[in-house]
Amino acid sequence: MQKHVDTMEFIELTPGAEVKTTRHGWRAKCLQRLIRLELPVPRTVALPCDTVRAIAAGHAIDRDHLSEAFPSDFLVSVRSSPENPEWGGPGTVLNVGMNDSMLARLTESHGAEAAEALYLRFVQNYATHVDRLDPDMFAEEPGPGALERAMATYRQELDEGFPQDPVHQLAQVLRSMARAWEGTTARLLREAKGAPADAVLGLVVQQMALGIGPGLSGSGTIQFVDSVTGAQQITGRFRGQSQGRKRAVETLYLTRDPRGASLEEASPETFAKLQEFGDRCRIGLREEMQLEFAIENSDVAVIDAVRVVRSSRAAVRVAVRLAEQEIIPREDALLRVEPRALSELLHYQVDPRAPRDVLARGIAASPGAATGKLVFSAAAAQAAAARDERCILVRRETSPEDIRGMHASVAVLTERGGITSHAAVIARGLGLPCIVGCSEIQVNSRDRSLTGPKGRVFREGDLVTLDGSSGEVLVGEAAMLEPALDEGFQTLLHWADTVRDIGIRANADTPDDARTARMFEADGIGLCRTEHMFFDEDRLTVMREMIFADTPNDRRVALERLLPMQREDFKALFDIMAGQPVCIRLFDPPLHEFLPHGREGMRELAEALDRPLSEVTRRVEALSEFNPMLGMRGVRLGVTVPEIYDMQARAIFEATIEASENGAQVVPEIMIPLVSAQREVEIVKTRIDAVASAVKNERKADFTYRLGVMVETPRAALRAGEIAEHAAFLSFGTNDLTQMTYGLSRDDAGRFMSTYVNQGVYSEDPFHILDVEGVGELLLIGASRGRAARPNVTISVCGEHGGNPESIAFCRAAGMDYVSCSPFRVPVARLAAAHFALLAPRKGGPF
Ligand code: PEP
Ligand code: MG
Repeated sequence: MQKHVDTMEFIELTPGAEVKTTRHGWRAKCLQRLIRLELPVPRTVALPCDTVRAIAAGHAIDRDHLSEAFPSDFLVSVRSSPENPEWGGPGTVLNVGMNDSMLARLTESHGAEAAEALYLRFVQNYATHVDRLDPDMFAEEPGPGALERAMATYRQELDEGFPQDPVHQLAQVLRSMARAWEGTTARLLREAKGAPADAVLGLVVQQMALGIGPGLSGSGTIQFVDSVTGAQQITGRFRGQSQGRKRAVETLYLTRDPRGASLEEASPETFAKLQEFGDRCRIGLREEMQLEFAIENSDVAVIDAVRVVRSSRAAVRVAVRLAEQEIIPREDALLRVEPRALSELLHYQVDPRAPRDVLARGIAASPGAATGKLVFSAAAAQAAAARDERCILVRRETSPEDIRGMHASVAVLTERGGITSHAAVIARGLGLPCIVGCSEIQVNSRDRSLTGPKGRVFREGDLVTLDGSSGEVLVGEAAMLEPALDEGFQTLLHWADTVRDIGIRANADTPDDARTARMFEADGIGLCRTEHMFFDEDRLTVMREMIFADTPNDRRVALERLLPMQREDFKALFDIMAGQPVCIRLFDPPLHEFLPHGREGMRELAEALDRPLSEVTRRVEALSEFNPMLGMRGVRLGVTVPEIYDMQARAIFEATIEASENGAQVVPEIMIPLVSAQREVEIVKTRIDAVASAVKNERKADFTYRLGVMVETPRAALRAGEIAEHAAFLSFGTNDLTQMTYGLSRDDAGRFMSTYVNQGVYSEDPFHILDVEGVGELLLIGASRGRAARPNVTISVCGEHGGNPESIAFCRAAGMDYVSCSPFRVPVARLAAAHFALLAPRKGGPF
């Protein structure tokens, strides 16, 4: 014997009914809100999730109870109502209760054609969704005899006529929808959209507004903003003599339109009513809603409403406008925009007016566009980046070993893969334009080429443009449009700045980077990697002369040639940043990185330096190290070859004086890399202070500066207390700190990272997502010891992790003053920081 549903409960949606999103679902709650706003919503009853679950589990539905709740003299629709609209749910079933006697009634009131079409649709729906019959058997369009044929098929398949009892029909529809929610496919689909494993479903039963019949009748949707741009604009559709989203007899434009008749003209009153409903929703629900409505003989019913689906750009505009209209507080506007979504607005786009030579098309996997030279391996991408060349990484498909190469590229193209493939996911995370599944090309990694349609071959070094927004690969360089940072975007981020309590700086090495940092209103430069300034052809030669110098005097001569170049570099940064802090890191990499590797390169160098090849080769070999990343680099160079830091310090100070003469007062920050002992800082500080005094004397000028330490060795974190005695600031370089904490090479980890992540050894690649347990503990130790020794020491993170919202949360919690990340991640970081400040206010003043 079947058990009855003990908890069977139907609740009529009235203004005062106790409807909860967690029990009855978002749709029931939304409809109740519409009812409270006095919108003409047809009578609606909600089934809570426990009832639906019991029905799915096989409990019988109490007929009496059901027929009480739904008198059978009208038709009803059944819609799903999960807690979150994103989680989907079984499709709507319309016209439940339709039977022969209703057919007769509707034939009288609405005519046989309309009534039969409606009945046919219901039979088709019921047969396929409730009785699970093959949809192909019920595919016939309405027309003479179609209803009879559908009925005959039904009888033939099930050995009984189409059920006539409306209560039975409703019970069956409820059961089939309740069960559909429990199916494995449905569960997997909603879990992919973030639903928890135990997500529940409510159901909503609503009296049908038929949308057919005499006079102006039909159904449609209307919204008051454009989903793509967010502009205030009415869009939607109205279909005469139609129900739901099905085929219709006549389509009207909503607003006046030169292309044809419109609802606005056909029934100005109805149109005005809809507009007024939109206003009511905007104010009452504090949101831009899309209304689904039905009109029956000019009477409007609002049958459903959903939040307008919107692009990131539209999300920003809508949130800002609602706040400006004082419908929502600014804090809400901030919280309504997902920080990562901002990255879509930040990128260059191919100018649509420019001519395009399309090489191939694929799946547009990450927005924005970039031009660069083709490379076919991660190593080649890294080599190109080291030469400061913009490159586009092309792979058949990517794997974790390619992440470093992706970091080094301006865009990524793969022959295979879909929107959630490795390349797509990582590129979106990095904000790189990306095209995947570009099956029109064949990648040949061996001979470093790709073949496009019509046999066009492109090789390593060829210039292409990748448009990650349209999915097109273009030949050569394309004209670009600047990122669209409109007023809404700026306003939102200014609001974010008023609430966030952690600084966001940018890592910027070049004037271009600095300009981007300014454009995104970073709070300054948190890391300028000066070594990147030496890779230009003319500088490289001088640099090599400096490295090859036999005597301190020869070295001084070479450094004197580098000095004015560096001074100009720094002056440009100071000028662009207009008084905002600029943190310049002294020279960091091993010297041999600046030397040629191949025989040909050595020969060229010998020629340039006018030295014998054998000598050049010997010197290069002498400089080579077994473990360069743990060798002669960073502050170790500063201690052993102090003239380099002397030159850099002088360039910084001279640029400071010059930039301050015409612009805002500059207080440069000088950062010593790879420190592991207090004494290193003392030695370097003594020399830099001496350079400062000398420059002040020579120039008869005064300035102040801040000297700080980059904490990127575990020992520096542990000894942060004594190091802070000589450092105005401590900036954690989490890239090296991760490398050294794990004993994991930044450059080689890719080989086994995927195995490690797959086997759960690491939950994520720690170079990508900050390891809060291990590296994080060192940050906490370093920060607290540093602060204990020097309470006003500035503490920050400037490794790649700085731009991740999760890392920002960690850094805030650790009481850091700022994070520094790549310029394009600054807006996301500003908004993410505001979110954290709003959601978990921290003690202490602003950054
Ligand atoms: C770091 O190590 O975290 C850092 C920012 O420096 P680099 O990446 O230049 O080594
Ligand atoms: Mg480092």
